[in-house]
Amino acid sequence: MQGTPTEVFRPYGSRDLEVLLSRSSLSASYRLQARAVAEVLPFRANSYVVDELIDWSAVPDDPMFRLTFPQPEMLPADDRERVAGLLAASAPRSRMQDVVRAVRARLNPHPSGQRERNVPVVDGRAVPGTQHKYRETVLFFPRRGQTCHAYCTYCFRWAQFVGDADLRFAGEVEPVVRYLASRPEVSDVLLTGGDPLVMSARMLAGYVEPLLADHLAHVSTLRIGTKALSYWPYRFVSDPDAGELLDLFRRIVAAGRRLVVMAHYSHPRELGTGVAVEAVRRVLETGASVRVQAPLIRGVNDEAALWQELWSSAVRLDMVPYYMFVERDTGPQDHFAVPLGRAWEIYRDAYAGVSGLARTVRGPVMSADEGKVCVDGVLGAGEDRVFVLRYLQAREPGWVGRPFLARFDPAATWWSQLQPVVGAAGAGEFDPFAVTGGAGP
Ligand SMILES: *Cc1c(COP(=O)(O)O)cnc(C)c1O
Ligand code: SF4
Repeated sequence: MQGTPTEVFRPYGSRDLEVLLSRSSLSASYRLQARAVAEVLPFRANSYVVDELIDWSAVPDDPMFRLTFPQPEMLPADDRERVAGLLAASAPRSRMQDVVRAVRARLNPHPSGQRERNVPVVDGRAVPGTQHKYRETVLFFPRRGQTCHAYCTYCFRWAQFVGDADLRFAGEVEPVVRYLASRPEVSDVLLTGGDPLVMSARMLAGYVEPLLADHLAHVSTLRIGTKALSYWPYRFVSDPDAGELLDLFRRIVAAGRRLVVMAHYSHPRELGTGVAVEAVRRVLETGASVRVQAPLIRGVNDEAALWQELWSSAVRLDMVPYYMFVERDTGPQDHFAVPLGRAWEIYRDAYAGVSGLARTVRGPVMSADEGKVCVDGVLGAGEDRVFVLRYLQAREPGWVGRPFLARFDPAATWWSQLQPVVGAAGAGEFDPFAVTGGAGP
């Protein structure tokens, strides 16, 4: 691997798009439309993604291309045509910015008001950059970790990547330490982003080390959510501070905490390069464990065989399959959505095809307002068909694990589109539809 050109991180952005797309045989009109999308939605790739993960002979249908490169269908046709028209006419920047702002505003980047509802308070003040929704686990968004080595086209955090100041959501560690000290019930802190592993090892240590203090011993598990193992595995192998990063992981383990890397893998191809495998090996060698999760995305990974291969490969490398998510509604989501009934079939077929060691995986899961709702299956026939659902996580801990029903709808792609089955959905303290009425945010 030494000396290959991809191991030096080279970021690509929307300005590089025309040159990158000329590696394919895409038409001039497709390329213009893709550039129009990249004016509105963020585009970021890097030398490894472009040279080693994408099969350029299969573009535009290649799954890794669809995962990272803008696709015309991600914007409504009239919006896209307007932006493309301005691009083609080399319109003034200010004119373009006005149009782009209007298009973004229509895309609804904050579907569920999560951020306002889950911000914890300590000493009478909100703790910036945190969410505490489920009793045991606090999410922390370190200010410097709010970007990624490449951007996923479906990402619900796109608003923060285009620099919309109002939508940025991140914080520093001191208030988090104060909050955790007041919360003995919290066992897990999940550092997330963006991707915290875009930070240098030294900067990351600045966030992590305060969490290892003796008075926070109840926080037994640090989790780091990352796609670096997929988008930039050199982070753990040959980056100048790769060794320092792995040493930090070792220090966490030596301090008596569990370190769990929540790795985002969308497609088995992301485990198919030598450096990807080596990166996993090095992370595990520190004493960390790795959980594998990703959303189900139309055109990227909406086939059972792909998940079967992903979970089997993960287990072979000693990682643990964790969640298959349903992508939440985020504007461009329309283009990527898989109906819940179909999602469940994909999950079931993949689950049936792997060893028991890979059946640690749960899904398809929606991260909804009140909790993580798993589609456990479809029962009945014809008009009487129902979804069997269950909370894997809930704001209200007593709701966890209790099955409930919703009317089957072959087109439904999200929790908010589901309707209760009268008299069967739960009652009294457990009435999962009461909160959003099945048609809420
Ligand atoms: C998914 C999630 C977690 C972690 O849940 P686990 O089931 O423990 O992995 C924590 N907080 C929020 C807000 C989440 O969405
Ligand atoms: S790695 Fe995660 S946060 Fe980054 S773009 Fe992809 S989905 Fe979004």
